[in-house]
Amino acid sequence: MSDTVPPPEVIYVEGHKVACNGGGGPLGHPLVYLELGEEGVAECGYCDRKFVHQDRMSDEHAHDYESPAPRPEGGH
Ligand SMILES: [Zn+2]
Repeated sequence: MSDTVPPPEVIYVEGHKVACNGGGGPLGHPLVYLELGEEGVAECGYCDRKFVHQDRMSDEHAHDYESPAPRPEGGH
């Protein structure tokens, strides 16, 4: 029994659609596409990586990140 599962990574992405294949290596898995959706967050069911939209980064680093322009709500 080994519980040596590494902690999930958080990866910041620009788009609202990401592809994940585990990054190769022991965590590699078939390529899957994830949609970040309205929340701007997606979690890979294979490798537990968490994908967060860059805009979400401003929540944690508001002091050194300024949004260049307000984003209209509900736009698609
Ligand atoms: Zn993955």
